[in-house]
Amino acid sequence: MERLVQRVRDAFRSGRSRPLRFRLQQLEALRRMVQERERDILAAIASDLSKGTRFCSGFSELNAYSQEVITILGEVDLVLEQLPEWITATPAKKNLLTMMDEAYVQPEPLGVVLIIGAWNYPFVLTMQPLIGAIAAGNAVIIKPSELSENTAKILAKLLPQYLDQDLYVVVNGGVDETTELLKQRFDHILYTGNTAVGKIVMAAAAKHLTPVTLELGGKSPCYIDRDCDLDVACRRIAWGKYMNCGQTCIAPDYILCEPSLQSQIVQKIKETVKEFYGENIKESPDYERIVNLRHFKRLLSLLEGQKIAFGGETDEATCYIAPTVLTDVDPETKVMQEEIFGPILPIVPVKNADEAITFINEREKPLALYVFSHNSKLVRRMIDCTSSGGVTANDVIMHFTLSSLPFGGVGSSGMGAYHGKHSFDTFSHQRPCLLKSLKRESANKLRYPPNSQSKVDWAKFFLLKRFSKGKLGLLLLAILGVVAAVLVKKHRAVLRREALLGFLAAPGAV
Ligand code: NAD
Repeated sequence: MERLVQRVRDAFRSGRSRPLRFRLQQLEALRRMVQERERDILAAIASDLSKGTRFCSGFSELNAYSQEVITILGEVDLVLEQLPEWITATPAKKNLLTMMDEAYVQPEPLGVVLIIGAWNYPFVLTMQPLIGAIAAGNAVIIKPSELSENTAKILAKLLPQYLDQDLYVVVNGGVDETTELLKQRFDHILYTGNTAVGKIVMAAAAKHLTPVTLELGGKSPCYIDRDCDLDVACRRIAWGKYMNCGQTCIAPDYILCEPSLQSQIVQKIKETVKEFYGENIKESPDYERIVNLRHFKRLLSLLEGQKIAFGGETDEATCYIAPTVLTDVDPETKVMQEEIFGPILPIVPVKNADEAITFINEREKPLALYVFSHNSKLVRRMIDCTSSGGVTANDVIMHFTLSSLPFGGVGSSGMGAYHGKHSFDTFSHQRPCLLKSLKRESANKLRYPPNSQSKVDWAKFFLLKRFSKGKLGLLLLAILGVVAAVLVKKHRAVLRREALLGFLAAPGAV
């Protein structure tokens, strides 16, 4: 592992990942890979997420396309269009002391970046950060999840065919390989996965003072207000909850609503499930399976002792769990203690929005918050009085799709963010640059020892004066600059005269 990371570091040090033209070429090659090898990629994703179904290479590829491939194509297009602007240095504001100098912020690559992906959207969760890391000029080691083994294999096969083989390397393997990788020194680590492993990643990174972006999970609440179109709300919630069989980090984890809404919500979600997946959900090409037996059994244990309003059917042989809704759920039970990450939707009755806010604030900060209401004041209040990685009002999941919004968690749901320009920023160092000339030394003398009260007064003038924006401010700044230059000159003349007088007054002088 050490040799492999060193090889990637040597490639980075060669400097070839830095020029804009190279970055664009690599991103274009990545787009070509997705377009030319679309069938292979879709088949791999579909077989990872539909294990045990007969749709492995059939209709579920449509889901793989719309949930993953389309996101990546959109992201590459955005970066190809915007990158020339992003890499350009931004001029920085100056003060009186630096008025004649050049000050700017130059984004620069961090170096060798490690991207550790999760299995639930195996393509998007590795490729989207990769796009940002390439755009920012880094070398990258990609560690896809071993649980989505087909996607991991196809990435290891295809990426070297299209991208620079020394700068961008796929490492496949499980806990052992990842543990070994994490012993190496990286310049940034972006990890997607559960919170427990997030702590392991952060502890390993701390040994090298490596910064981390942790894309974790949590229980994302969904508050449904009485003043709401329940038909629309339930359709949108059912879509976000049962997509990918509930294995979506920002799926609504549970519903909070007034007790009187419960039965209507159950009825409407039930109707929507029928509309989406038909009478026989098991046969639906749009309904995925639980990724493995361990997660299947974990989810079954969450159903114990619960009131199942509908759903609840399971099939161990194919890791099938039907879309399920639980009612009157006690917040102390197991299903409310951990992220569900499956097609089980508990409804926890609360008296009103205030109680919902308290309920949310008493728990760890979630990755997403959803609120459904016609009342925009209530929506704002829910946002203002709580904290979460992101928010969508009157819909679910959709804030993920807008690349102008930073995507990430807060508190135990993660740290840092990416998507679009935010990925570029995450994988860049914003380098402050001040370019002075070796001239104008007289003004600089103010800061050299020995210090004096008049020097401090001048320093206060140069550094603490604030000017309002706009042309008037600029004009004033220019005038003040000229006045300051004249005063400095005069000050120097006075100093010289004083020195001369001192010299003349000294005993032994002529
Ligand atoms: P996973 O099992 O695929 O693990 C993620 C990665 O961690 C894998 O690459 C795996 O090899 C590595 N890993 C596992 N154990 C490790 C260990 N002991 N040491 C070092 N590395 C280890 O995925 P998961 O954790 O089951 O993913 C599901 C979780 O991820 C959920 O909590 C979900 O909410 C979260 N998630 C978050 C996002 C997001 O963008 N915030 C996206 C997807 C999933």
